[in-house]
Amino acid sequence: MGSRRTPTRAIREACLQCRGFERGPVRNCQRTGCELHMRRMGRRPPAGTAPPPLRSVRAYCLACCNGRRKEIRLCPVADCPLHPYRFGRRPVDGGTGDER
Ligand code: SF4
Ligand code: SF4
Repeated sequence: MGSRRTPTRAIREACLQCRGFERGPVRNCQRTGCELHMRRMGRRPPAGTAPPPLRSVRAYCLACCNGRRKEIRLCPVADCPLHPYRFGRRPVDGGTGDER
């Protein structure tokens, strides 16, 4: 299921989870340093203003795991929208077209 989301869509859903599934707080999120911030609305940011979405997901997961790569690999939160993309690449069994 999760692997059917595009990376940008997964980011949007992660942001909604982060803000209690309320759109307004996602729109108004002030955490500009968050790796997902530029894609929090589920839209592609202007060219050159943000890293590719898979790289942003990887960076976010690294922060989530306090920089421990092994913990990303072992992440048990299968229903996290970012889970299929936590290695910074598309899963071999899924994923859909999106910008890199
Ligand atoms: S940009 Fe980061 S802090 Fe803001 S809603 Fe998304 S995940 Fe939460
Ligand atoms: S997939 Fe796992 S490591 Fe990545 S943000 Fe979600 S809970 Fe954290």
